[in-house]
Amino acid sequence: MNYTSQYQKTVKELDRAFSLYIRHRDSTEHGCVCFTCGSVGYLEEMHAGHFISRKWLALRWDEKNVHAQCYTCNVTKNGNMKKYTERLVEMFGSEIIKYLFDRKSLVATHSVPEMKDLIRKYKKLDIVPKPF
Ligand SMILES: [Zn+2]
Repeated sequence: MNYTSQYQKTVKELDRAFSLYIRHRDSTEHGCVCFTCGSVGYLEEMHAGHFISRKWLALRWDEKNVHAQCYTCNVTKNGNMKKYTERLVEMFGSEIIKYLFDRKSLVATHSVPEMKDLIRKYKKLDIVPKPF
């Protein structure tokens, strides 16, 4: 396998591990809770919704930039951004918005071994059993 396809395969694998970790992190005993509307759903049906698009690599796997969202908020409402902003400020304080937008312009490089480390980290964090 050449480096480019190895790289892309690892990005996908990390996306999956990170998304699952986020949805577990944002679950309670009642299920996975949408960050922006509070609806509760099955973990498998919920999304890991990015505040700033995952196309910006410095924020793609930033835990503050990604939260569980229902399909309606993430897809139909394009992230439900007004509410997302309010919830982030509630949770982390108003400086979080500047922090995230500042990071957007950073050039992030993740080597395949670095991404593999993150995959191991998120798979390990994901072992807490949840009913959903
Ligand atoms: Zn929602």
